[in-house]
Amino acid sequence: MKHYRNFVNGQWVESPRTFEDISPVDGSVVATVHEADRELVDEAVKAGHRAVAGAWGQTTAAERVVFLRRIADEMDRRQADFLAAEMADTGKPLSMASVVDVPRGIANFRTFADILATAPLDGHRLDLSDGAYALNYAVRKPLGVVGVISPWNLPLLLLTWKVAPALACGNAVVVKPSEDTPGTATLLAEVMEAVGLPEGAFNLTHGFGPNSAGEFISSHPDISAITFTGESRTGTSIMHAAAEGVKPVSFELGGKNAAIIFADCDFDKMIDGMTRALFLNSGQVCLCSERVYVERPIFERFCDAIAERIKTLKIDWPQDPDTRMGPLISAKHRDKVLSYFEVARQEGATFVAGGGVPRFGDERDNGAWVEPTVITGLSDDARAVREEIFGPICHVSPFDSESEVIGRANDTRYGLAATIWTSNLGRAHRVSESMQVGISWVNTWFLRDLRTPFGGAGLSGIGREGGMHSLNFYSELTNVCIQIDQEEEG
Ligand code: NAD
Repeated sequence: MKHYRNFVNGQWVESPRTFEDISPVDGSVVATVHEADRELVDEAVKAGHRAVAGAWGQTTAAERVVFLRRIADEMDRRQADFLAAEMADTGKPLSMASVVDVPRGIANFRTFADILATAPLDGHRLDLSDGAYALNYAVRKPLGVVGVISPWNLPLLLLTWKVAPALACGNAVVVKPSEDTPGTATLLAEVMEAVGLPEGAFNLTHGFGPNSAGEFISSHPDISAITFTGESRTGTSIMHAAAEGVKPVSFELGGKNAAIIFADCDFDKMIDGMTRALFLNSGQVCLCSERVYVERPIFERFCDAIAERIKTLKIDWPQDPDTRMGPLISAKHRDKVLSYFEVARQEGATFVAGGGVPRFGDERDNGAWVEPTVITGLSDDARAVREEIFGPICHVSPFDSESEVIGRANDTRYGLAATIWTSNLGRAHRVSESMQVGISWVNTWFLRDLRTPFGGAGLSGIGREGGMHSLNFYSELTNVCIQIDQEEEG
C-alpha cells in the first residue's frame, strides 16, 4: 500500500488524518493520503517566504533555467513511475497518458526554461517623458509564495503548467493537487528533492477544498497570488477568499464548448478530430466539445458516422495499448454524469448512441465507467445543453446559417474553447474570431503551442497563461524611472 505524504520545507510530513485514494477502474484503494491541516499549510507558506528571502530568492534567472531543466530530466528518468501513478489515480488509458499527460508535464518545465532563458527580464528604454530625459526600466521580481490548486482531469500536466512558470519567476509555491489524484504530485515532490531545489521553494500539501488544504491556502493572508484550475463555482469561492487580501488570481475554469461543423468541411478528417474532441479522457478535458452544431445538409450523416465510430472505440483496461476510453474519475463523478443522462431523457432527448454503463462481468463493474453518448433533439435552453457535464456526452443539433450558429454558439455564460470545421478560408477566420472564447481551433482540436495565450472568457476564467503571459502573471514589475539631466552648457 502506498502512502502519499506532504512535502513541506524539504521534509516529508505525515499527518494524523488520512484519506483513501481510490482507483476508478475497479474501486480498489491505490494509496493512503496524509491530509494537511491548517497548521501544516501555514508552515508551508512560511517555508515559501523563507525560501524567497533566502537561497531560492538569491538564484539568478540562469540558475533557475538550470533547475527547470534538471527537473525535466529527472522526470524523464522516472517517466514509467509517473505513468503508473497517473494511470492508477485516473484510470486513463496508456494511449493517452503516455502521449499527452506525462510528456506534456515534462515539456512544461523545458518550455518555461527556454522562455525564461530568452525573456526580456529587464526592459531598458530611453524615454522622453514630461519634457525631461529619463531612463525607464522595469525590474521583474517574484510575487512571493504562490498557491497552486489543481484538478483531477490532467493532474500532472495542469499542475506543472503552473508550477514551472511560478518557479521560473523565482516564486516559492504551495501546491494542492486534487484529492482524487495525489500520486504524480507526490512524485514531483520527490523530483524536486532529487534535483536539490532549495528547501521551501516547492511545498506540497494534500487535502480537499472547503475546510481543508484548498481553503487554508486560498484564505491564507501571506499567500501572494492564487493560480487555480477547476470548476467555475469553486473559482467563485476562491475569489471571495482572495478578495480579502486583494490578491491576483489566474483562473482556468469550466466550459460548455461548441463545435461548429460546416457542410464544406473535410468530413473524414472532421470525424477523426471530433471523436477526440468528444471522448478524449472520457470527455473529461475542459476543452472537450459538449455542444455540436452541424450544418443541416450533413446533420444525419454526422450522427450516423459518429455513432459508427463510437463502436470502434475500445473501452477497456487502461494498460491495453489499444484502449481509447477508460472510466470516469470517481463513482461520485459517474453519478453526476449519469444524472445528466436522466435529465436529458426527461427533457425529451433522443439517444443516438450510449446512454448507459458498460458491463464487464469482472471487478471493473465496481469502477466508474459510462458509455460514450450522443444525444439530439433538445432545445438550446435545455439543461443538458446549457450546463457543463464533463463526461463523454454531447448534444448535436442542426443549423442553417453562419450568423445563426454564431449566435447560438455564443449563447452561454462560459467561454473557454470552440472548434470550427470548414474548408472556406474566409469563413474560418470570420467564425473563429467571432467566438467569445479564449481559444478557437479551426479544423483541429487540442493542438497547443505552450507559448500561446491560454485561458477563458466569462465563467471560464480570468487571465491568460502560456509563454510570456505566464511570466507576466507570476512576476511583479517594478518600474524604475531615473531622470537624466541635459548636459550643462559651457
Ligand atoms: P473542482 O473545482 O471541484 O476542484 C479543483 C481543485 O479545487 C481541487 O484540488 C479541489 O480540492 C479544490 N477545491 C475545491 N473547493 C475548494 C475551495 N472552496 N477552496 C479551495 N480549493 C477548493 O474541479 P474538479 O472537479 O477537480 O475539475 C473539473 C473542473 O475543472 C471542470 O469544471 C473543468 O471544466 C475544469 N477544468 C478547467 C480547465 C481549464 O483550463 N479551463 C482545465 C481542466 C479542468
